[in-house]
Amino acid sequence: MLGETTDDDDGDDEQKAPQTAAGELADAIRTTLGPNGLDKMVVGENGTVIVTNDGSSIVEWMDITHPVGRLVEQAAAAQDSAVGDGTTTAVVLVGALLEGAARLRSDGLHPTTIVEGYGRAVETAVDRLEQCERDLRSRHDDRLADIAKTAVTGRWDDASTDRFAELTLSALQAVEFDTSKLTLKSYPGGELRESACLDGVVVDLETSSTSLETLRDPTTRSHDNPTIAMVDAEIGIEEPNRIESVELQNATQRSAFQDHEQDRRTELVTQVTRSGATVLLCQKSIDEAVRTALAQRDVLPVERTRRDEFDVIARATGSTPVMSVDELTEDDTGSVESVTQRTVGTTQTLVLQGCPEEQRASLLLRGGTPHVADEVRRIIADCIDVTRVALDDATYVPGGGAVPTALAMDLSALSRGIPDRTQLVFDGFSAALEAIPRTLATNAGTDPLGTLTSTKQRHDNGTETVGVGPDGHPCDMTDAGILEPTIVFKTALQRAVAVVTQILRIDDVMQTSADDRTTDAGHDHAHTAAGGYPWAVGH
Ligand code: ADP
Ligand code: MG
Repeated sequence: MLGETTDDDDGDDEQKAPQTAAGELADAIRTTLGPNGLDKMVVGENGTVIVTNDGSSIVEWMDITHPVGRLVEQAAAAQDSAVGDGTTTAVVLVGALLEGAARLRSDGLHPTTIVEGYGRAVETAVDRLEQCERDLRSRHDDRLADIAKTAVTGRWDDASTDRFAELTLSALQAVEFDTSKLTLKSYPGGELRESACLDGVVVDLETSSTSLETLRDPTTRSHDNPTIAMVDAEIGIEEPNRIESVELQNATQRSAFQDHEQDRRTELVTQVTRSGATVLLCQKSIDEAVRTALAQRDVLPVERTRRDEFDVIARATGSTPVMSVDELTEDDTGSVESVTQRTVGTTQTLVLQGCPEEQRASLLLRGGTPHVADEVRRIIADCIDVTRVALDDATYVPGGGAVPTALAMDLSALSRGIPDRTQLVFDGFSAALEAIPRTLATNAGTDPLGTLTSTKQRHDNGTETVGVGPDGHPCDMTDAGILEPTIVFKTALQRAVAVVTQILRIDDVMQTSADDRTTDAGHDHAHTAAGGYPWAVGH
């Protein structure tokens, strides 16, 4: 569909029928569905190029201009934020349901009849879905790894997909499935297999710009059972303009001034050591001489700790941040089992392990380049989301189009008993569900009709868990460990029907004149659309 031109290719794509606009979006996305989905290259306004086959990212990055295309985009975004997966599925279903509706209309059915029929069909399908689902036994159910893997199949090679699932589950188990206690960090340099899950908090020293000179001192590399003090303000001697403007008349005054500075530094260092702190985390900068003096007294000074990390450390270690070193007492300090300096890739980090107040974990993800490291992080984030979604609902279904195939077969069987025209709508709905296994077969390079027919045959013979395998041929999804949270397909189907209903009820897209005082941002781009597509990239 990309690069293709249409008759009404006059650059004014708002004139397009609503159904056509949404259908074209579905066409563009279809080729990315499943483990064999192709990548899309999305070119941004400033020339940035993103290559991905993640449907949600593509829809998000495409600058969709047609108002109906935007309805589909919103549905996809809602699907993504609700369950974190199933976006492409939802968009493909929208395309197929609209195609079905177009056929039904040409057979003389009124849009209202189609809308009502689709409504009944989706209710029936969702009820029937319960027969396909299985319960997750516990948080340690082996099926969770399969679910995590299925969610990201095709995004990386198979060996890495196993590793992603493994990292995801070990991290989730480390924080007892409470993701608010988990930090994801990606570091360019190194390989995926060097990624690791650590119990504790990791602070990047590069972003905190801590003096590495001090830290390189071997005596400060690792502290066992350190006492942590935290200061939420700059640590140094106050030398604002007031002091600068003092004219130092002679050597005596100069040395008195230097003495004052020295005394103040000593006071600060004494205050820190008196509190018993062996690690001092400061949210702002620490005077260089103070830093050196602290290091000499075996106190590790860390400056410019990021605000979010600072807050996490305070909670996890039980330290109370103070606004000034002068206020610091033993009561304000916290503790951890160990603090270690560690180099990850090219980044210096500080690892605080064994936090007493809050069990925390950090996933340190590695990738050769910043782009790879970021993609690894997105994949892991998706694995984590899908695992949580599966646990929330505690049910899963076979993937690879096994469920839409089973539902399609049921609906078409049911339709035979419907006496009125709704029968045709049920058949149309059933055919639209088949778009999922068909598309998976097409994308894997096998004949969609042949694959669908033999898949259905195996369902007829009693194996309802058969779907389209990664090689494009029918296989039992449960045996192959291709599993998904029930909620992913369920909401994708419900959202698709909701947006299709909305579109079918639209008779026409009306444009207001340019000097109309409309505030709808959608109109801003209306006339800049390129190529007759419902969307355009890079304007
Ligand atoms: P979505 O944005 O809808 O999640 P994906 O590109 O992730 O789109 O594809 C999801 C579809 O691919 C689902 O139907 C899922 O069951 C199927 N799928 C995932 N992994 C496999 C696999 N290994 N073999 C066959 N189908 C798979
Ligand atoms: Mg997916």
